[in-house]
Amino acid sequence: MKYPESFLKLVEDFKKFPGIGKKTAERLALFTISTLDKEQVSSFSEHLNEAKENITHCPICGTLMEHHCPICEDPNRDKNTIMVVSDDKDVFVLERTPIYHGLYHVLGGAIDFSRGIGPEDLNIESLFQRLNDVDEIILSLAGTVEGELTAQYLKELLKHKGIKVSRIAYGIPVGADLSFADDHTLELALNNRQKYE
Ligand SMILES: [Zn+2]
Repeated sequence: MKYPESFLKLVEDFKKFPGIGKKTAERLALFTISTLDKEQVSSFSEHLNEAKENITHCPICGTLMEHHCPICEDPNRDKNTIMVVSDDKDVFVLERTPIYHGLYHVLGGAIDFSRGIGPEDLNIESLFQRLNDVDEIILSLAGTVEGELTAQYLKELLKHKGIKVSRIAYGIPVGADLSFADDHTLELALNNRQKYE
């Protein structure tokens, strides 16, 4: 006997999420049907729609935002410094510590030729449209091969712009990303950033 049609559709939906295989998708679908009540399911579907409707990427810095960007629109932030990060989540990790007051730029990934991701697939052009009042660019990219490649690529492009380029000093193992660092490590990494040449 096969699963009911609607159940199979749900399994297919869950399978679209990263790291979710067929078995986990079936378990999640079964949980949704058997354990959650109607109200919980309907509020889940409302939240999904609401999030998809209201959350976008800031057209300037690329951070996830709801209605307006709390960073770009904050008059108290230092507009002369931009920290370049790979992913949205890095911004939220860095914002945990009160130490950084500049702006951000989210690349939306890192250069990875093995997966067909080149510079043109990242938000690099939009970074170069924001450099007018900028004194320093802090590259806060992971110590992975992809992070290194991306940092070097940006450094080359920024070389003749008269802007200081620094690289955050990771006190965390090569290959790890920012989210593995505790607040103290993040603070140290930021304070000990090195001029990148
Ligand atoms: Zn923004």
